[in-house]
Amino acid sequence: MKYINTEKGDLEMLVTLKDVLRVAEAKKCAIGSFNTPNLASMRAVISAAEKQNMPVIIMHAQVHEEMGIVKMDEIAPIMLYMADRASVPVCVHLDHGTDISYVKRGLDLGFTSVMYDGSEIDKDMNYANTAMVVEMARRCGASVEAEIGSMGAREGGGAGSESIYTDPDDAKKFAETTGIDALACAFGTAHGIYAKEPKLDFERLEKIGKMVNIPLVMHGGSGVSPSDYIKSIGFGIRKVNCYTYMAKAGGDAVSKLENNMLYHDIELEATKAMFNDVCKTLNIFTNLKNDE
Ligand SMILES: [Zn+2]
Repeated sequence: MKYINTEKGDLEMLVTLKDVLRVAEAKKCAIGSFNTPNLASMRAVISAAEKQNMPVIIMHAQVHEEMGIVKMDEIAPIMLYMADRASVPVCVHLDHGTDISYVKRGLDLGFTSVMYDGSEIDKDMNYANTAMVVEMARRCGASVEAEIGSMGAREGGGAGSESIYTDPDDAKKFAETTGIDALACAFGTAHGIYAKEPKLDFERLEKIGKMVNIPLVMHGGSGVSPSDYIKSIGFGIRKVNCYTYMAKAGGDAVSKLENNMLYHDIELEATKAMFNDVCKTLNIFTNLKNDE
């Protein structure tokens, strides 16, 4: 199956966010987007995407460097290498870049897409910084995702600020003014483990989907029910960010292992469990799309 028509007419596996979102738009489906702070999760995600024959997005989150999990400089070359040798198109994305200098470093390292997250700063500054990132990314041929409204706590799952739902008028103005390729909006999902089942504001999402003419992104995607995924995709969600529940699947599997394991046994067990979890998630998206 040929997904991408690059300018050269080649089938290239390292692609931009714009490339994979074009596929999602054509098929009216969503692309799974996973944080991969280690080789085990990267292998799990890419193998699952290959099994489903779906493009996929692998992400490095700035917060994972701040938490001491992995440095962007260490993980970026591995992500790019893995993307390039995959048998499906893979976008290598910087997730929640909150510092312009960090985003710039990401672009220099070769990320094909970056998210600038100015959701917790002054709105005018968010506009100005996002437009600056768009300009920087264009020079590298990379795509940009940005956020208006706020989803609160980040991928670390720790405490964060309150969630502020995205205002549809704001969303339209933000997308048009900044020239971004995808918009992350807050409509009831949250990062981390859900204490109770999330209640999504579909009326708001529908309005945003009608007013904004670029693909929409759902963060805090893992933990959302299959029927809510399908409804959200129907209203224009084209990228679903997942991490926590995949990582938890790996952790749960390891905790069931007997003692006296070697470290590589732990990694193999976690990879298998994360692969199964990602397959389940991607399967929901795959079943939405029409096969060519
Ligand atoms: Zn996020």
